[in-house]
This record gives sequence, structure tokens and C-alpha cells, in this order.
Amino acid sequence: MFGPKEESRTPLSALGEFPLINHLTGAFKIHHKETVLGVGDDAALIKTPAGHQQVISTDLLLENIHFDLAYMPLKHLGYKSVMVNISDLCAMNAEPKQITVSIAVSNRFPLEALEELYSGIAAACNAYKVDLIGGDTTSSATGLIISITAIGLAKPSSIVRRSGAKENDLLVVSGDLGAAYLGLQVLEREKQVFKVNPQNQPDLTPYTYLVERQLKPEARWDVIKLFKDLGIKPTSMIDISDGLSSETIHLTKASNLGAVVYEEHIPLDPQVISTCEEFNMDSTTIALNGGEDYELLFTIDQKDYPALKGNPNFTVIGHMTHEREGVHLMTRAQTKIPLIARGWDPLAAQDPQD
Ligand code: ADP
Ligand code: MG
Repeated sequence: MFGPKEESRTPLSALGEFPLINHLTGAFKIHHKETVLGVGDDAALIKTPAGHQQVISTDLLLENIHFDLAYMPLKHLGYKSVMVNISDLCAMNAEPKQITVSIAVSNRFPLEALEELYSGIAAACNAYKVDLIGGDTTSSATGLIISITAIGLAKPSSIVRRSGAKENDLLVVSGDLGAAYLGLQVLEREKQVFKVNPQNQPDLTPYTYLVERQLKPEARWDVIKLFKDLGIKPTSMIDISDGLSSETIHLTKASNLGAVVYEEHIPLDPQVISTCEEFNMDSTTIALNGGEDYELLFTIDQKDYPALKGNPNFTVIGHMTHEREGVHLMTRAQTKIPLIARGWDPLAAQDPQD
């Protein structure tokens, strides 16, 4: 993973801009009838069916701030870049339909690198039935920059915002938490080992789930479909990109409420527990403050509890309270401690030039 690979390197200048765009986007399929016109003209055209609203979200990803190509294969990066945007649409209870992809690349990247990136984007588009409808391509002085915009569709009555929670609603999370952050720790550690001894190929077998959660996250579109099947509409929802603490606080702030999260109910994969022991980390802290799980955190009315009770995709981790009660974690020892948002903050990250 970390070693130099023998591979062909075609400079981007060998193609020119339009052949390059054609080469990268030519094989993408259009899945949706709402996509009237995709790549190739000055702008794309999308039809909005009667009674629907468009739902739009954008993310900007910078090399060495949001990803490190030392351990992030470009194909995975392409896939993940699409996932983080689709996850935002899922968090609105909307159906992802189209994306645009804009990239800035330095001459350090050969054509083969962009082919890898776009193969990951294509895999995500096929897996989630999303149409690539445009973008922009330009050069960058140093690193790789990727900006993706995702466009979805929803009926106004089914859209879920952060602000709809009510007192006594149950706080529920999909999947399990903390694994993506620990995967990053494992990869960082191996990167340091590799720097010292390049012959040393890492054995990541004990950490496969963690590394996969970091390198190949999946947006929970399956959960959105499940809500429909179960006849549930969450009262508020957010996707977990920055950690359970900060996302819980976002829901409570937007809904003018407080909340209690029960430590003993926070869902953790066994690999998270064993790796936390090995790394001497507290698994609750990792679940609360680690990021990039891309699970959904949502609230439901108590009357909807029977519909998701026992479903392995969901864990009730707490409930919403009056605003004056604040936002707390109830520990296993029955101590109430205030939750604070310590999620990953890119503005606090060090300048990569430093
Ligand atoms: P303009 O000069 O009007 O910005 P471009 O030549 O950049 O147009 O783009 C031509 C077509 O290719 C447009 O449909 C645009 O959306 C699409 N496109 C450009 N760059 C990308 C990219 N990196 N990925 C996907 N589509 C792209
Ligand atoms: Mg352009």
C-alpha cells in the first residue's frame, strides 16, 4: 500500500482538456429519467417532477487536510468523495440522483491517477444509481482538490431537517461508531512504520473492519429505504461526519432541546473495543469524538419505537429533553457529564505548509 508502484505515467498534457474530460467521463451511465442532459454542454439539465423539491449539498476536499494519498488509494478517494455527499442527502431523507465533480490537479498526477480516481467515482455512481452530470477541471499548484455537489429529490412532506425533534423523542443511531477514526489511527501508525522501514509490509488483518470503514465508507441510503418500508419518518436527522457528540449537539441546538445519551448503549464493533484496548484509548471517547462514520443520527416519536425495535440496523442511545436540562452523557457508573463538541475541526488543523 505504501510502496512505490511500477506503473505507466502518461502526463495529462498529452491529452488536452476536452479529450481528458471525455476519457474520464465517457463510460458513465445515466440512470435517471430526470437527468435530461449530462456532461458535454455548457450546463446540465435536470427535470424536477411535480410535487418534489431538489436537495443540494456540496463538499470540498483538499489533499493533506481531508485525505492523505500515502494511505488513501485514489480509487477509494473517488468512492469516498461521492459517499460523503450522498450521506448528506440521506440525512435529509432525500433520494440521491445526480452529482457534479470538480477537480484541480498538479502536474504531479499522471492520467493513470485520474483514471483511478474516476474508477472509484464510477463505482459509487453505479452502486448508488447516481448520474455524473458535469463538473470542472483545472490545474493546481501543488495538491489534489476535489469538490463534489450532490443533487437529490424529495417530497416536501418527507424531508427531515435537524430542527424537528420534540421533547421525549428517542435518539437513535444506525450501525456502529468509532471504527473509521480508529482505522485512520491504524493507517497513520503504519505510515510511520513504513517511513522508518520501507521493507516492512503492514499486516492489517486484525483491523480490516476499521480500515474499511476509513477507506470505503458507505452512505446509509439503505436506511432511508428502510424508513419507507417501516413507515417511519424521523423527526430530525443528521449524518455523523464529526462524531456523535458534535452531531447530537447540532440536533439539540437546531431543535431547541437538551438530550441524554447513555454510554452503555453506544454501539461499538468488537474490533473497535479490542483496538481501543491495544492503543490504550477509551472507546466511548472515540465514538463521541472520532469522525467519518457516516452513520445516521436521528430522533423518532416514541409511538414509532415498535417499528424499529429489534432491528439490527438501529440502536436507541438516548432521548431528547427540555432545553434547560442541557446535553449529557450518562456514564456506565450513572454519572452525568456534559457532552461537548470536540469533533474534528478543519479550521483548527495545521497548515500543511508548516
Ligand atoms: P466550461 O468551459 O463551460 O466550464 P468545460 O469545458 O469545463 O466547460 O466542461 C465541458 C463539459 O464537461 C461540461 O459538461 C462540464 O460539466 C463537464 N466537465 C468538466 N470537467 C469535468 C469533470 N472533472 N468531471 C465531470 N465532468 C466535467
Ligand atoms: Mg469548465
